[in-house]
Amino acid sequence: MPVAVYLHLPYCRRLCPYCDFFKKVPRTGDLARIWGLILSELSALRERESSASDEEITSVYFGGGTPSLHSAEQLASLLNGVSKLGSVQGKEVTLEANPGTLGLAGLKELREAGITRLSLGAQSFSERKLQLLYRDHAADETRETVRNARAAGFTNLSMDLIFGLPGETTAEWRNDLEQALACEPEHVSLYNLEYHEQTPYGRWLEQGVLEPLEQDFEAELYLFTHELLERHGYEHYEVSNFARPGFRSVHNQVYWEGKPYIGVGPSAHSFDGVARRYANVADVHEYERRILAGESPVDREWQNGEREQWEEWISVRLRRKEGVMWSDCHTAWGGIKARELWDAATGLPRHLREVTDGVFRLTVEGWFVENEVLGRVYEKV
Ligand code: SF4
Repeated sequence: MPVAVYLHLPYCRRLCPYCDFFKKVPRTGDLARIWGLILSELSALRERESSASDEEITSVYFGGGTPSLHSAEQLASLLNGVSKLGSVQGKEVTLEANPGTLGLAGLKELREAGITRLSLGAQSFSERKLQLLYRDHAADETRETVRNARAAGFTNLSMDLIFGLPGETTAEWRNDLEQALACEPEHVSLYNLEYHEQTPYGRWLEQGVLEPLEQDFEAELYLFTHELLERHGYEHYEVSNFARPGFRSVHNQVYWEGKPYIGVGPSAHSFDGVARRYANVADVHEYERRILAGESPVDREWQNGEREQWEEWISVRLRRKEGVMWSDCHTAWGGIKARELWDAATGLPRHLREVTDGVFRLTVEGWFVENEVLGRVYEKV
């Protein structure tokens, strides 16, 4: 089965207080060190899973952290390492990049290195929001990076935007969306700010330093985004993602379709496409020790039981515009389970779902309260 490859490059120039990814600020030599270690993991992977060389690669994704801190040469050699597992020719190769980390010359080198898609961490065009998020770039740097990326030949740009910050107004969010539209990205990923427990934002929320927006108002902003972006030719194809025709993210669809992927680098996760999941150790020093000792960096491994597989099968499909097809459900899980799911679906309030004999999908309002909806569905199936 084709497999997607994710590479986790964990270093960032500074740490954003809302972020719960595995990341660190580099000291001298750290970027080169992690690059060498990930290259070693890739070659060990090739030797350990010799069948992997026959794999077809669906896509490659450089995530992090801020992988755009690495040189084009380092990224090219990592891509070369991935190509030993299977051909990457003509495949989507995404690099997460922060505005202000790349100039025109660097962007040209990235094109030559084989990067086909940039995912730009713009987050906002409001200086107030950028400051509140402790981002180390200004809105002008986002516009400049987009201009340079186009000049360098990138024809597939994705932009990350965050909404739901304390004090945010409709006008401020509308301006963010309009500024983003003026950059004409092919793809937009939307994040509704979350206050993760282990982050400074989580603590500041608990201490009352930050006051979250009302959920109803956030829902309004979400619906407003859906309407505005759809009106401008973007398809709202997944709960948090919009694309111009032909520009859905190939890589992320692998996750949403429950297909296999291999994660490389500290904290990266992998999935065999059926039940087995495993995760690399989320500690750079331990990762280094294991790689240098020739040990596996896998720290945790687990199998989803049938119940978890069933719930996950439903949830990944409901995140997508296509929803759950009766025929797929019937084939994968049998008539009894399919009937239970359809009964649960019709029991949901009408404004949250669309149900026919062939399809069960969530409405945009349903997507906004997806976890709540899923909880109600799981109780019945
Ligand atoms: S730059 Fe991205 S990965 Fe790094 S801390 Fe900020 S949000 Fe997290």
